[in-house]
Amino acid sequence: MALSEVDLYKNIYLQAKNPTCVLSPEGEILLVNPAHKKLFAATEYLPAGHPFSGCIGASQWLNLLDKIYKGEHFHQDLELTKPDGKKSHVDISASGIKDESGKILAIIVISRDHTQRRESDNQLMRFHNMFDQSNDAFLIIDVKTGQIIDVNKRACNHYGYNQEEMLQLSIVNINPGYQGIDEWRQRVDSIQKNQDTLFETTHITKSRKIFPVEVSHRYVEDDNKDYIIAIARDISERKAAEEKERQAQREWSRTFDSSTDIITIQNLKHEITQCNQAAVVAFGLNKDECIGKYCYELFSGNKEPCPGCPLTEISDNFKPYTEEFFHKKLDKTFSITVSPILDDTGQTTGISHFAKDITQQRKLEEQLRQAQKMESLGTLAGGIAHDFNNILSAIIGYTQLAMLHTPPDSKAFDSLKQVTTGGQRAVDLVKQILTFSRKTEYRMAPIEVQRIITETLKLLRPSLPMTIEIRQNIDPNCPPVLADAVQVHQVIMNLCTNAYHAMCDQNSGTLEISLTKIDIQPEMTVPLFNLQAGEYLLLRISDTGTGMDNATLEKIFEPYFTTKKTGEGTGLGLAVAHGIIKDFGGHISVYSEPNEGTCFSIYLPVPAGQTQTTQEPSAPIEVPMGTERLLIVDDEKPIADLLKVTLESYGYQVTDTTESPEALRIFKQDPELFDMVITDYAMPQINGIDLAEELLKVREDLPILLCTGFNDANNNSKALQVGIKTCMNKPIQSDQLALAVRKFLDKA
Ligand code: ADP
Ligand code: MG
Repeated sequence: MALSEVDLYKNIYLQAKNPTCVLSPEGEILLVNPAHKKLFAATEYLPAGHPFSGCIGASQWLNLLDKIYKGEHFHQDLELTKPDGKKSHVDISASGIKDESGKILAIIVISRDHTQRRESDNQLMRFHNMFDQSNDAFLIIDVKTGQIIDVNKRACNHYGYNQEEMLQLSIVNINPGYQGIDEWRQRVDSIQKNQDTLFETTHITKSRKIFPVEVSHRYVEDDNKDYIIAIARDISERKAAEEKERQAQREWSRTFDSSTDIITIQNLKHEITQCNQAAVVAFGLNKDECIGKYCYELFSGNKEPCPGCPLTEISDNFKPYTEEFFHKKLDKTFSITVSPILDDTGQTTGISHFAKDITQQRKLEEQLRQAQKMESLGTLAGGIAHDFNNILSAIIGYTQLAMLHTPPDSKAFDSLKQVTTGGQRAVDLVKQILTFSRKTEYRMAPIEVQRIITETLKLLRPSLPMTIEIRQNIDPNCPPVLADAVQVHQVIMNLCTNAYHAMCDQNSGTLEISLTKIDIQPEMTVPLFNLQAGEYLLLRISDTGTGMDNATLEKIFEPYFTTKKTGEGTGLGLAVAHGIIKDFGGHISVYSEPNEGTCFSIYLPVPAGQTQTTQEPSAPIEVPMGTERLLIVDDEKPIADLLKVTLESYGYQVTDTTESPEALRIFKQDPELFDMVITDYAMPQINGIDLAEELLKVREDLPILLCTGFNDANNNSKALQVGIKTCMNKPIQSDQLALAVRKFLDKA
């Protein structure tokens, strides 16, 4: 059946998607289609017969009517509020249907609901805002050309272009990493395969400033053209912070490695998690090899914690502790400090273990203790030696006296002679002890080195095994040099001891000492260690011992350098010798080869002009007698007696006393009575020098002989100042005394 035209329109009308309704010229609803019903359903849906004003509100309705009756088209976007409060946006257009005369017959209203479109417009807007507000630069890039298709505001800010300028650019212009568009395309390929979608690179601004960025990419397929969304984040600050962190890390690890202490960090199971360079050196392993090991494995090679190691305790009480530990394998002493490492909450997360090598320190302390012991021993020996001298004086003196009264061919005479010889040896020994016990201030005086050598060897011989031969090659006519006898003695002693040590393993060998005078000519001075031209004594001490290699030779004069075991060497011997010889204006040099022995040469300058030694010649003497009157003062009765008896036996008339004030009194009674005064030095009340001073005030030309137990330069010079012309060292032998008295009286 064919549809009538009216039905056809009606159908179209009813099925039209847009809400449509037909109104009477007065606004009464005549007809609505289902779409209209749906749109206005929840409003006050008004079926036919009701006014349309109910749909759009009175004021809009009047507007509509106004337009229609003016013959115009009404078109308005309206916001309608439904009873549930929801808003809908409706586009309403209305037109009048007129008859031929222009009279309005009906009004057709077609509405369009665009609530949803508006919603997506809003969404788009929000997205755009977000896009613009983002802290990251958004770039939409054409995959093929690399052209920038769109950017957000932040991108413009970052790169310093305006939007228009940016859209002229290609990605190659802002990423200096791309040499050309081909590289961009390769990149696109991998982004498309979902690789390399996030990476770090650098971008460049309009003002050519390069900054680091992290870029994430997304490939988007589009009907028109595929594009890439790149989100670039400026990571300058992050990079700076990372660099700072790395710097701090480097600094920390350098500090860690700079320490000469062995430092390890351990976890709570005592496994090493970190160690410093000193540890690497000490254990001979690299860092990776140390990590994971236990400290006792590295330090002692043990499979279990060292016995008594308090490290285990730390995990219980978490207190730091320090203790000393001797390491047998390394032959070293360590001071170990262990402390807990805490995290922010105060929990112990690990342990730091510091091991400081204090071997050297302990060695020095030991040396100091040894030196102090030697010093007090010396002082003690000095004190004993002094008393011993007096005893020896009496023994030798009385023995010699006894010999005077004994027939020289008798057995008794021989025995007495043995006593004197023994006593004499004791005197020599005491002299050595005194030499050693002296404080080491210099007393520069002309000395005969040959005598010192003889004395030193006498002392040394008994302590060397007989398998070591001592050869001497000494020129007895060597002139005296200006030096300190004690110091020279010490130098010879140190060198000879070293020589002995170098030979003691082979248990035989030759120690040779030679002394000659040499003349250094001006043209020789350069090769000879910058010594000035002139006369020198050359003292050579050589041995047939182990010798030295160059590495050792370079260091031997350094204080504390020793190749000997603890307790055997202090490393001071040569340093001291070197210092002493330098002080005397001389030079010490060495020649040595491994297994070939060693030769030390010492050059001592001979002062220009004649010098007299202070030592008395010890040639045998014929003692002349005398009859003069002598006054003797010595606070020790046996000595005073001995001197009196001795001198009386040589014919002198002797008055003696043990008290110096008494002596002064006796002398003052008759100053001309005595031809000479012999006085001890160390006496209570008035000492020998002060007494002499008093005596000389009374009689200026009085010969005074001072006997002293200390060979002390201070006293000697004081005695000279006071006016005492002759001093004798105790113990005094009878013949020497008689000779000195005779000589002195003859001169006076
Ligand atoms: P010390 O004897 O206490 O070791 P020294 O200063 O006397 O100290 O000597 C330093 C080092 O020089 C010795 O340890 C030794 O190695 C070496 N040395 C010295 N003299 C000799 C020598 N005559 N032969 C071999 N080596 C020597
Ligand atoms: Mg030595």
